[in-house]
Amino acid sequence: MTTPLTPLASAAPFTESRQRDVARALGAVLPPGCVLSRLEDTRPYECDGLSAFRQPPMIVALPQDEAQVLAVLDVCRRMNVPIVPRGAGTGLSGGAMPIADGVVLSTARLNRIVRVDAEARTAVVQPGVRNLAISEAAAPFGLYYAPDPSSQIACTIGGNVAENSGGVHCLKYGLTVHNVLRVRVATIDGHIVELGSEAPDAPGLDLLAVFIGSEGMLGIVTEVTVRLVPKPAVQRVIMASFADIVAGANAVARVIAAGIIPAGLEMMDQTSSRMVEPFVRAGYDLDAAAILLCEADGTPEEVEDEIARMAAVLQEAGATAIAVSATEAERLRFWSGRKNAFPAAGRISPDYYCMDGTIPRRHLAQVLSGIAQMEVKYGLRCANVFHAGDGNLHPLILFDANVPDELARAEAFGADILALCVAVGGTITGEHGVGIEKIDSMCVQFGPGELNAFFGVKRAFDPPSLLNPNKAIPTLQRCAEFGRMRVTGGVLPHADLPRF
Ligand SMILES: Cc1cc2nc3c(=O)[nH]c(=O)nc-3n(C[C@H](O)[C@H](O)[C@H](O)COP(=O)(O)OP(=O)(O)OC[C@H]3O[C@@H](n4cnc5c(N)ncnc54)[C@H](O)[C@@H]3O)c2cc1C
Repeated sequence: MTTPLTPLASAAPFTESRQRDVARALGAVLPPGCVLSRLEDTRPYECDGLSAFRQPPMIVALPQDEAQVLAVLDVCRRMNVPIVPRGAGTGLSGGAMPIADGVVLSTARLNRIVRVDAEARTAVVQPGVRNLAISEAAAPFGLYYAPDPSSQIACTIGGNVAENSGGVHCLKYGLTVHNVLRVRVATIDGHIVELGSEAPDAPGLDLLAVFIGSEGMLGIVTEVTVRLVPKPAVQRVIMASFADIVAGANAVARVIAAGIIPAGLEMMDQTSSRMVEPFVRAGYDLDAAAILLCEADGTPEEVEDEIARMAAVLQEAGATAIAVSATEAERLRFWSGRKNAFPAAGRISPDYYCMDGTIPRRHLAQVLSGIAQMEVKYGLRCANVFHAGDGNLHPLILFDANVPDELARAEAFGADILALCVAVGGTITGEHGVGIEKIDSMCVQFGPGELNAFFGVKRAFDPPSLLNPNKAIPTLQRCAEFGRMRVTGGVLPHADLPRF
């Protein structure tokens, strides 16, 4: 069992009069229609993609420009109201889950592409711009934005920055942190700061790297400058079948060991391919225990050479069948199953719980076998569909929340997977962040020294601790309650730390 969530702390509890006061103060600084407080209006914000946890916020604020973001922060700081930033709400770790007596600051109306500079190969966008919309705006110039979360049709660049999101193409082109040059941030004390630079290096401390992946706890992103890359002339994908999952996992390590960095290297186990095939008809080999999708991109000559080299490695690694996309339509069809795997889970299970951990590639086979044993231990099925090239696992634990204790078993199953990731030298998160979902697993990954350093950064940016409190960093007390912190001589270290 995972420890239940601790109640979220704030100065004044939710009351109708408090809600009225805060709504009035926000209404004075925002245009009409930008403050929502009726339950029927706030309910759509009650959860993100981690829908097992729900909490309508006291108020939703919808600022339309940077000055209005600062005004919302000013009201919240003066009235001591916690703030949860929110993009599209596709996050899978509960990062945008509201607080009962807090304000959700939505970036839905900050959705303008400020400019695309084809010569500099950059785009400047507001935080509520959808990931895919950046590539659409850059397409006329033969450019695109490389990090491509599977949720890219909906998720926002602000959310991507806050989560340091990844995607299929990140193996070759890097994560959000490698593709964002500069962010403008509204701080809780009412300033706009610019982190990073369009130049290759920025003077001063590298606070951009600190900020990317900080899950809405350090400031509100109000503008993002991203790097664009040229669209490759050709892209082709290999679909390789394997008779057992260990051979498939080992093939991943062998492709990389051969010095090839594919544009994408993804794996689906049989549960996943059987789950998704009736949904998308991608032509997957349903007898295969595992399928690998390996993409090559570049000039026609580069692609031909890389496809031949990858096919040879895969064959040597025991592939039982290999198909290479001959047309762009076929390439998209091969990928369609991978891209639609999460929604397809709904066809075979009322609920699913998507975990996200990263491991050294060489341990893929061991960890997948461990997950198979946990399926028996917890009596729940698990589909594995993931960024194999990065060692970034996405076990989808299938459960039915209507069956008593299945959610609890799914959570315990997930926590066990993360503990296994840490045990083999990996991390508890790959790209979905910590949020509320993995907060206890942070105690498995980090000791008091690291957690204190994280709190130090948090306090430096947000002294009143109003920005997304109680997410991502567990208090040392919480770790002790979770049973992962050493209590020496009956004394809990750092019991004096604030609970946030
Ligand atoms: C079907 C599906 C597939 C997915 N596939 C991937 C994938 O391949 N790779 C991947 O990395 N993720 C994936 N995700 C997870 C999710 O889409 C990403 O984490 C995404 O970056 C979240 O963006 P969002 O706009 O929805 O942010 P939200 O969910 O609204 O918020 C996420 C976090 O960002 C903070 N935040 C949002 N906007 C701001 C801002 N302007 N300033 C400061 N903080 C902010 C929030 O407080 C929260 O902590 C997937 C999710 C789904 C549902």
